[in-house]
This record gives sequence, structure tokens and C-alpha cells, in this order.
Amino acid sequence: GQKSCCFEGCYFVPSAPEQELLCIFGTGDFGRSLGQRLLQSGYRVVYGSRRPHSCGPLPQGAQVMSHTAAAAQSASLVFVCIHREHYDFLETLAPELKGKVLVDVSNNLKKNLYPEANAEYLQRLIPGAHVVKAFNTLSAWALQNGPSDASRQVYLCGNSAEAKEAVSEVATKLGLTVLDRGSLTAARELEDFPLQLFPEWRLPLRLAASLAAAFFFYLLIRDVVYAYAEEGKDISFRIMVSLANKVFPIVSLIMLALCYLPGVIAAFLQLYRGTKYKRFPDWLDRWMLCRKQLGLLALAFASLHVLYTLIIPIRYYVRFKIAESTISKIKENKTSVFDTTLAWRADSYYSMGILGYALYVLLGITSLPSVSNALSWREFSFIQSKLGYLTLFFCTLHTYLYGGSRFLSPSTYKWYTPPGYILSLVVPSVVLVLKLLIILPCVDRTLTRIRRGWERTDPEDDTKKSLLT
Ligand code: NAP
Repeated sequence: GQKSCCFEGCYFVPSAPEQELLCIFGTGDFGRSLGQRLLQSGYRVVYGSRRPHSCGPLPQGAQVMSHTAAAAQSASLVFVCIHREHYDFLETLAPELKGKVLVDVSNNLKKNLYPEANAEYLQRLIPGAHVVKAFNTLSAWALQNGPSDASRQVYLCGNSAEAKEAVSEVATKLGLTVLDRGSLTAARELEDFPLQLFPEWRLPLRLAASLAAAFFFYLLIRDVVYAYAEEGKDISFRIMVSLANKVFPIVSLIMLALCYLPGVIAAFLQLYRGTKYKRFPDWLDRWMLCRKQLGLLALAFASLHVLYTLIIPIRYYVRFKIAESTISKIKENKTSVFDTTLAWRADSYYSMGILGYALYVLLGITSLPSVSNALSWREFSFIQSKLGYLTLFFCTLHTYLYGGSRFLSPSTYKWYTPPGYILSLVVPSVVLVLKLLIILPCVDRTLTRIRRGWERTDPEDDTKKSLLT
């Protein structure tokens, strides 16, 4: 700022600093929201529009003119807030845009819609400008409402370091965090970001849906169709609650076990290879990365099982059955003897289920970012691993107790097929047995050494061998 000084009582009169002028092409949703944020952050904004006199309402304080006139202004940074399909007219503005930084904010409707990324296309149209891909992962809505955590990040890429620096400066001033993704060749990757829809949930959701569908049909045939075909009974009403309440715990237990299976496989792979310095196969990596989602879906199914179980006493079918058996006993003057073994088994079965579910919920809560961020790595892994295996143990035991002695009874195997709960026990039992092997002191000692960098084959031996050959 300028200083002026008078002799008596020295004082400064700082003149208002010249506000930087930025240009926006396109007066659509994104252009307007961006312009508003820029004005709020102390920039001057000039819009370039096809219809400078008839475009919709613009943020207060912004100027609007034709594209050519706007491009000829002193702004060194131009945000191109136009869809890619309409970029071609920009070619005619190449002389005015020469040397300017062009920010490409565009997105596409689908992946691989065009042979080159939008930003690369823009660069080809105006070779004299410095194109920077940025802001495309933000939405007009987020810009208008002030960024929330998820929309605080601005990914950018471009071939000119100075151009990227200029865009970063603006983004930082808007309160955003900049993540530089390198040269303009990364533009396609940035353009694909907004098209992603819960990528890490896809595999677990597909798995849950397939398991649920497979077990539903399996149980439908074993329970409903079997009763109809063999006994001539129509028990199709059971589909709504009984069948659902069999499918949910089965899917839940299998999914929970699938959460812990990759860890066990990884441990055995390390033991077998005698080193931790070899990459895991891709499928195992991908599987390990979606464990949290697998676990949360398993919890969702367990919660459904809990809710469906709570309504059992008020079901018409159950009340009818109880009344009927009581009445028939009275009629026949029969008394039933209290079976202590059965009482023990039923109570243990419920108790294991409740304990398992309580731990399940704890695992779910600690996977929430706000909670896991408050835990140290050791605390987090204690809960997710140690308590996780305990959860799997309780839930598996709950299922074994549910089966009880019925496992051995031939009438359980209708049409020679095992009941759903027996099938659901396969994966968890395997995981628990393998885990038990891993925690045996001799195995555990080797695994701990491997995980601290020890290798079974001495690397020096290998180099000696390779020198000899
Ligand atoms: P929009 O509301 O449809 O606005 C696009 C603007 O482009 C129009 O208002 C128009 O401005 C100009 N335009 C339209 N047809 C044109 C043509 N034939 N020739 C020249 N200019 C034309 O779209 P938008 O939502 O603001 O999106 C603009 C860009 O931002 C797109 O590339 C989009 O992918 C990207 N983007 C948008 C969002 C979002 O949340 N909306 C988020 C991220 C990225 P004039 O009438 O003033 O010329």
C-alpha cells in the first residue's frame, strides 16, 4: 500500500490493495457458485457468456461480458465452467487466451466417453494456454454452502508448475485443501473420481446379496417346498419371518468369518514364504481392503436377526402353536417334564448370541472414523482383532448350540441336504481353527519374527549363490 506522511502526527493511509481479477466462462450452476465463493474471498470476477445481457441472475458484484471481451481482460486465470461438448468455440479465442491459465472443471457422464481427457482436449484446442485440471470433484452445491469435510479437497494436475501454483493459491484462499496429482496426463483419473459410487462397498454388497439370495432359495426348497411335496402342507407364510430370520444370521456369520479369513490366509502365506517382503496376490489385497465394509454389512444382518427374533413371541403362528399344545396337553391330561439339559442349552444359546451381538456392535462403533481416529493403532487393532475373533467365537458357538444334538439326527437332512445353519458354520469353523493354529506359541513366535523383518532364507546366501552362478 502507499504511505503518506505529514509532519505533525505521523499517520499512514493504506490504499485498498488492488483485488485480483478472475474470469469465469459460463454462467451456469457451477460458474455462478464458484463466482460467488470467489467474490466472498475477495476476488473480482468477470463472466464470459454467450448472452451477456440475458443470462440468469449472477452473484452481486460480478461483471458479465461476451467471451471475447472477458478473455481480453487483465485476468490471468480463466475458469472454464462449460460442458466439454461446447468447448469447440474456445478455439476462436486462442489469441486472447494465449499465456493465460485455463482451469478445466468439467466432468463426464460416463468413463471413457472420449478418447482423451477433457482437459487434454482443451489444451489441444488452445495450445498457447496453460491448462490446469481442478475443482471438478467439488459440486456447485458444496461450493455454495461452504465446503464440508468430504468436499474440502481440490485435486489438480497440469503441465505448468506456475499455473498450478496460481490455481492452488486461489483454492487455498477459498478454504480448500489442494492435492497435486502431477501432470495433465492425470486428468482422466481426476475426471473419473466423481463417477465413483461407493467403490469399496461394491464387492461386499454383491457378496451379501448373492449369499442372501442363495440361502433364501436353498431354505425355500428345504423348508417350504419340502413340506408341500412330502407332507402336503402349505407353510408358505413362513417365508416372511421364519425364513428371513434364518437367512439373516447365516449371511451375517459367513460375512463376519469372511472378514477374518483374509488375515488368516495372509499369515499362512507369510509363514509359507518365510518373509513378509513379498506382495500378496491382488485378490487378497482387495479382500483385505474391504474388511470394514464386510464387517458392517455383517452387523446389519445380525441386527435384522435380532429384530426378527424379538418379535417371535407376538407372532400369530407362535401364539397359536403354544395355545394348541397347552390345550391338547390338558385334554389328554399329559404333563411334560422339565428338561434341565434343554434349559441349559437354550440359555447358553441365547447368552452367546447376546454377547456376540454386543461385541459386534462394539466392533461397528469402533470402525466409525470419529471413534477410530480417537484410538491409538494398538487400541484399534486390539478391538478389531482380539475382540473381533471373540465375536466370531461367540457367534459360532451360538450357532453350534442352536443345532445342539440335531446335527446327528437323520431327520435334519431333508432330501439329503444339510440345514442352512450347518452350512453357515463351515467358514467360521475353518477360520477359528486356523487362528488357533496361528496363536500356538511356536507358530506365533515365527510369525512375529517374520513380521519384524526376519526372513527364512538369508538374503546374503542368495547373493552369494547368484555371484557363483
Ligand atoms: P450448466 O448449468 O449447464 O452451465 C453451463 C454453462 O455453459 C451455461 O450456463 C452456458 O453459459 C454455457 N454454455 C452452454 N452451452 C454452451 C454452448 N453451446 N457454447 C458455449 N457455452 C455454453 O452446467 P454446470 O453445472 O454449471 O457445469 C459447467 C461445467 O462444470 C461442466 O463442465 C461440469 O462438468 C462442471 N462441473 C459441474 C459441477 C456441478 O455441480 N454443477 C460440479 C463439478 C464440475 P452462458 O449461457 O453464460 O454462455
